[in-house]
Amino acid sequence: MSFKDKIKNLEKDGIFIEKGKDAKKITGFKSGGIISYIAYPKTEEQIARITDFSLKMTGECKITGNLSNTLISDRGYDGILINTKKMDSVEIYGDKISAQAGASLRKISDIALKYGLTGFEFASNIPGTLGGAVCMNAGAFGTEMKDILQSITVLDCHGKIFKVTPNELNMRYRHSLVEKNKYTVLSAVINLKEDNISEIKKRLSDLTNRRYSTQPKMPSLGSVFKKNNDKSAGYYIDKSGLKGYAIGKASVSSVHANFIVNTGGATTSDYLSLTAFLQEKLFKDYGLFFEKEVKYIE
Ligand SMILES: Cc1cc2nc3c(=O)[nH]c(=O)nc-3n(C[C@H](O)[C@H](O)[C@H](O)COP(=O)(O)OP(=O)(O)OC[C@H]3O[C@@H](n4cnc5c(N)ncnc54)[C@H](O)[C@@H]3O)c2cc1C
Repeated sequence: MSFKDKIKNLEKDGIFIEKGKDAKKITGFKSGGIISYIAYPKTEEQIARITDFSLKMTGECKITGNLSNTLISDRGYDGILINTKKMDSVEIYGDKISAQAGASLRKISDIALKYGLTGFEFASNIPGTLGGAVCMNAGAFGTEMKDILQSITVLDCHGKIFKVTPNELNMRYRHSLVEKNKYTVLSAVINLKEDNISEIKKRLSDLTNRRYSTQPKMPSLGSVFKKNNDKSAGYYIDKSGLKGYAIGKASVSSVHANFIVNTGGATTSDYLSLTAFLQEKLFKDYGLFFEKEVKYIE
């Protein structure tokens, strides 16, 4: 059976598969080429099946959420991206939330607010999914995903589904073993606490104001570089006078020096060239190497 016929079989079994999607329309930086296939499983059985299929057919398994931290090559991706956004249910159990990997952090935050649960406010404006946030151990304002997770349900590349703790995933600053162990995050249980809804609202509004007064509104992937032992790349980029420095249409934000923004029509290659330039410059000027936080699919 040909590859295309196999794809048709998956579609017949209810897995929605988009073909020839322009990465510019779905990635945070609005760059990149054509993605041959994007599969949107709705259930754990479907994601296990498409993962197995992708591994067997292409030797790879690329899981994505909201692509808010991911660049796609300008040549596109000639394989199957698996996207979790149709697995987005969120349930409340007392002061815990159980959510599927594709639930957006905003959706979880809205539900936590509705049920008077505090602890998720820090993540409310991070534009990712729960799966992406677990993989990245996303964080803001001094709190990280690992601080609020009770357990994470993962699928491994042998089709086994099991629960792990944040400790077992070695979650630390913008790091987890999800990628290295080739896990797909299926869902997670989040520990929260009861609180007054108006107090939660106040905190959400305060954090939203703080975020939007210090971050650019143009397309970006958030912070480009991870901290190096508490030293922030943004501080040194600014110190070197590089705010506004551009390669092609990718520019260091004038609002936040650790953001690269798309000023209109930037390519992935503009972004990568600018990050390489910044890495070299900061190493030359300060002897500091800053590792990239953003992921790259080619
Ligand atoms: C304006 C802006 C602000 C941001 N602010 C912050 C911030 O304050 N703090 C912060 O930490 N980040 C921030 N980010 C970065 C980004 O939003 C987070 O890293 C987010 O958690 C990524 O989620 P995603 O669903 O978009 O992941 P994607 O970009 O789709 O994927 C990111 C990584 O996670 C993996 N992944 C995704 N889903 C799964 C899954 N189900 N199972 C296994 N692996 C998976 C992917 O393979 C990839 O390696 C910001 C980004 C932007 C654009």
